[in-house]
Amino acid sequence: MRDDFTKPTKNALALRANFKCSFTDCGMPTSGPNDSSPDGVTKIGVAAHIHGASPLGPRYLSSMSSDERKNFKNGIWLCPTHSTLIDQDTTKYTADFLREMKAAHENKIQSEMSGLKKSNIDLIALGPDMVFSGELIGIKSDAWQVRILHFIVGDLHTLITFAERYEQIDPYDRYILVNSLGDGRQLSGAPEISKSGSDYVVCTKVRNSLPRINAHNLPRDFALNDGHDLFVENGNIAVVSGLDALPQRIKSALSLQRGESPSHRNVGARIIEYFYLFRDSTWLSNLIKLEVIRNACIPYLDPIQNKEYTLLQSINRVNNIEILDTESKPNWVPFHFDLIVEGIGSWKRDISIFMPIGDEFPNYPLGTKTEAK
Ligand SMILES: [Zn+2]
Repeated sequence: MRDDFTKPTKNALALRANFKCSFTDCGMPTSGPNDSSPDGVTKIGVAAHIHGASPLGPRYLSSMSSDERKNFKNGIWLCPTHSTLIDQDTTKYTADFLREMKAAHENKIQSEMSGLKKSNIDLIALGPDMVFSGELIGIKSDAWQVRILHFIVGDLHTLITFAERYEQIDPYDRYILVNSLGDGRQLSGAPEISKSGSDYVVCTKVRNSLPRINAHNLPRDFALNDGHDLFVENGNIAVVSGLDALPQRIKSALSLQRGESPSHRNVGARIIEYFYLFRDSTWLSNLIKLEVIRNACIPYLDPIQNKEYTLLQSINRVNNIEILDTESKPNWVPFHFDLIVEGIGSWKRDISIFMPIGDEFPNYPLGTKTEAK
């Protein structure tokens, strides 16, 4: 019996290591081009166990539970040479030694990334499987153009697949979101990819933004308390409408995880997923901001009502999202929202979002729509 890592755990290890070997002063890239096809990729990285996955493995610790052995904390991302080396000399490469190596490598990547952040680099999402640092270089009424600097989620292959299989992608997953604008658009045609110097440039045709509902006219809704239960006042279920209904609309929309709703499979936020993959990373709050932008700006065609609306209905722009605290209350994480709201203008509020935080990634059926059928 081996306690192998799950795919999301391996992904998190690779992403947090920036796909580079974590061994001190190695830093070898573990993914790169493969000449067998124009978009071929070679992957050589190893998600190595710190404490062995089975009793025969190096540094095996019998007192650990199976879940602990499979946990992100028990892994380190390495090149093939160093994954072999650490298992052959366990006297030198103790578990503590490896954990220090991993932490040092992650810190190095993080400071490299915050260096990028300072130089006015933006974060841009294109569809559900790509987030990259880059910049918006052109806006016309029907087209946005962006330069890609560095992929954070996905890669060039993901981009080519997205463009080629555009027609098969759910319209709700055809979008571009720009962090610094606090805004995004649904695409109206397959993106065109070109090269400018050493960078890739993507031109996307976009739809006009969907009109929002004036927050004073938000429909009546049942009031919810912080436990997300109905709020009862003098024996009656409390009802809110207009601007009073906005906080709970935000809370409900963002607390629903994508894949959770049986009738609306694509609806829901990916905040837990990002939290798990990017916790402690400088990108986390920006990634969560992109999710709020998506829910505010990208129209959803409700198949039951046959009606199109944005899930956050009244939000025009997302200025800033801040995570306030992840410790105080189990499962409810307070966020500060700084928004531009239709009919109101600037609107700021702290709202808690349901987020069960454990050490392992929760097993939601997270949907991506760009895989081959
Ligand atoms: Zn190495």
